[in-house]
Amino acid sequence: MSAQDADGPLTGPERDHGPAADADGTRVVRAGLPGEEPYAPPLPGPVFAAHFHLPGDIEGAPYTYGRDANPTWTALERAVAELEAPEDPAAETVVFSSGMGAISAVLLSQLGPGQTVVLPSDGYNLLAALRDRLEGFGVQVRTAPTGGWEEPGRLDALDGARLLWLETPSNPGLDVCDIRRLADAAHERGALVAVDNTLATPLGQRPFALGADLSVASGTKALTGHGDVLLGYVVCRDAELAASVRAWRKTVGAIPGPMEAWLAHRSLATLDVRTRRQAGNALAVAEALTARPEVSGVRHPGLPGDEAHQLAARQMSRYGCVVGFTLPDKAHAERFLSALRLVGEATSFGGVRSTAERRGRWGGDAVPDGFIRLSVGVEDAADLVADIRRALDEARTGDR
Ligand SMILES: *Cc1c(COP(=O)(O)O)cnc(C)c1O
Repeated sequence: MSAQDADGPLTGPERDHGPAADADGTRVVRAGLPGEEPYAPPLPGPVFAAHFHLPGDIEGAPYTYGRDANPTWTALERAVAELEAPEDPAAETVVFSSGMGAISAVLLSQLGPGQTVVLPSDGYNLLAALRDRLEGFGVQVRTAPTGGWEEPGRLDALDGARLLWLETPSNPGLDVCDIRRLADAAHERGALVAVDNTLATPLGQRPFALGADLSVASGTKALTGHGDVLLGYVVCRDAELAASVRAWRKTVGAIPGPMEAWLAHRSLATLDVRTRRQAGNALAVAEALTARPEVSGVRHPGLPGDEAHQLAARQMSRYGCVVGFTLPDKAHAERFLSALRLVGEATSFGGVRSTAERRGRWGGDAVPDGFIRLSVGVEDAADLVADIRRALDEARTGDR
């Protein structure tokens, strides 16, 4: 019995996904909230409990031990399900302590010896470590780049697979693949389809509406957007899938703290205004970068000239906050980063404050030495563009 099947103390009536017809800005401010009760807070505070009063028989008890379920998670899980799958009331969310907790839970709970998974070769860099682990367990791993699935013969990679993992747009390369087409091809071959939806957020892309079976994300990035929480989630189309992912969470204990879950839920109310503003700012920044002779390879799915834009426009409703581009070399990139005044040098993305880093410093991503991943925040667009132009001017000459 899962917490989502049962009425917990804070959860009010059975989850209905709310009127799917409401626009995003309307849906996010109420997502996952309990029904209004006199003198109760709109979003109940975090419930700090390692265990719950548990008299007698445990059958049907929604809350028992703090590793299994918590009312603060339940509220957040309802909210994420409403946003990811408004058209699909059967969808269930399982929240995790981080995006990697969520990704690992799907891959390690759904794959066994002799089964085959298809992973992106250019996805989040820790997928490589997971690949090694899976192979050690006897899982056959095939990899394929996010772009270029339309090339002849590429779909053969799905033959005999149990799971297809997509990351679109990909991090850090910002390539895009056609979720609908690949989900259809995978389903014809009996494979499940999971999409890492971190970059787009549920307001930018709805993998379920495009045919996916699982939508997985790091909530550390744009979903929560303030750079103060690590979190992950898995949304499953199917209760059986959700039960096995939830059982994995319980077994490995990759659970979010109640405070983190509550902060994440509170942050959802501003998801629409943040991501709308960030996408507008990111496009302004990408356009400004495109005009610079020393900048090459500008990538942003919302940029009309981007090679992935047409496909992105078919399946995304906003294009995220990440812009990728390349400066001539490592030293040039470092001069640029240290000349920025409004953009902090940091990893991660999706926060309200703009950040950037030279991605190659981590190793592991196939990017040029001068490649910059820039995460655009909610600052004033003109200020940001001016700061980036000035830093580019300074980086070009090296005099500061
Ligand atoms: C950051 C990220 C992850 C990992 O999430 P954590 O919360 O850092 O564990 C997974 N996938 C993508 C696309 C990411 O950007």
